[in-house]
Amino acid sequence: MQQQYFIGTRGGDCPSITFKDALLNPNAPYGGLYTLKNLPTFSKEEIQSFANLDYTSLAKNIFKALGLGIVDSILENALKLYKNFDDSKIPAPLEKINETLYIQKLYCGPTRAFKDMALQPFGSIFSDFISNSSKEYLILTATSGDTGPATLQSFANKPHIKVVCIYPKGGTSDVQRLQMTTLEAKNLKVIGINGNFDDAQNMLKNLLKDENFKATLEQKNISLSAANSVNFGRIAFQILYHIYSSLQVYNLTKKPVHIIVPSGNFGNALGAFYAKIMGFPIQKIWIASNSNNILTEFIQTGIYDISHKSLQKTYSPAMDILKSSNVERILFALFGENRTRELMESLEKNKKYSLEKSELQKIQQYFEATFCEDSYCLETLKKYATMGIIIDPHTACGIKAYEQIQSLDSSIPCILCSTAEWTKFAPTLTKALGMGDLSDEEALHTLAQKFSISIPKQILELFTKNEIHTQVVDKDLLPQTILQWL
Ligand SMILES: *Cc1c(COP(=O)(O)O)cnc(C)c1O
Repeated sequence: MQQQYFIGTRGGDCPSITFKDALLNPNAPYGGLYTLKNLPTFSKEEIQSFANLDYTSLAKNIFKALGLGIVDSILENALKLYKNFDDSKIPAPLEKINETLYIQKLYCGPTRAFKDMALQPFGSIFSDFISNSSKEYLILTATSGDTGPATLQSFANKPHIKVVCIYPKGGTSDVQRLQMTTLEAKNLKVIGINGNFDDAQNMLKNLLKDENFKATLEQKNISLSAANSVNFGRIAFQILYHIYSSLQVYNLTKKPVHIIVPSGNFGNALGAFYAKIMGFPIQKIWIASNSNNILTEFIQTGIYDISHKSLQKTYSPAMDILKSSNVERILFALFGENRTRELMESLEKNKKYSLEKSELQKIQQYFEATFCEDSYCLETLKKYATMGIIIDPHTACGIKAYEQIQSLDSSIPCILCSTAEWTKFAPTLTKALGMGDLSDEEALHTLAQKFSISIPKQILELFTKNEIHTQVVDKDLLPQTILQWL
């Protein structure tokens, strides 16, 4: 396919832009997101021909078909980053648990959560795209724990790029905090804020649209960009592993699979949706949530209503979200730009929107959803640990979906996306096992010994390093703190 262009999900007279532009400046008109106009679809023969490719060859073929227009050498450089994963040939390996359950380990990269799958190559592409630019770029990111470390790792020491990462002080696990605060590179700044993740995300949004702040940056010849999960540069890499896994399991079972995705901002699930549209052997995408179950309600009823909800803290914090950004790209793909704009404006004004019955039926051709309370999450962690299968709390929420699928039809193979390694949430596991409230370090060693499993070097090392980034600020002081550092 020749080069494709990106358009905004909420329409407007915006010109179509390239993948490169959408990646460097991810905000589309009317508050929308940039998205592909068209997705390619493949014949059965083409799909079969993809089944025997290794991961990087598959990636090259898919990106070509998507028409992203990335120069070969740049894509090559990006895919090389999978060398930093446990198995460079298979960055996202599948483990067969039983005849109908395959766990896909998306956490084999440097920071042990699935964010590395996209952010590692994304950092490389971003950096190559601007290598001849006379400008500097400032990338801002807010994190509840996994995006921050993955973004910092990806951009450390990259020329022309500076990264500021804000996180809620006290709102992350020790491992997650140390992954950020011990990382030493001149172009990185990590700032704790007094507040929760919602506060951090709001501060980020305000900064991104603060004209004074942007003008001051422009005087210093610095452009502002963002590496959050609405950036299509990340979504592109999140299509690949769903294609890879569905083909692998289809070849073994000869049956189209269900893909179960523990979801927050819906980026991971969006990748699976695109893979299904392109024709890969996927029956349904199952959305797993925690007690912040807005996505379950939406997919079951067609009503997205946050007017009566407040955010709850759970054991699966990466899914503690009410406004799930990438749902907007689903609306666009199924209902078009005018309807998307109407629905999203209703969400902003009334904190709510409702689909027509026929629209809901369309959504349900692709998605099913369920959610898991904290108590059930702990029981599941324990049950699986007893079988010798050590998973993290987000993955445990996905098990709930698997059990539900089994009770409906026990013949369909399921791929459960495991989004984080147990090492990032060890105290939740020891709690589930009735070992009391331990610190991250104590819990890691206790579990490693009990189950004879190893702790990756990059996690162990954290506890011996100095915390370099110790600054904590109130929200009013954030802009000036950033400007001073620059
Ligand atoms: C980010 C994250 C999720 C949610 O992914 P989305 O793409 O935002 O839906 C789930 N689990 C873990 C461990 C994560 O870090």
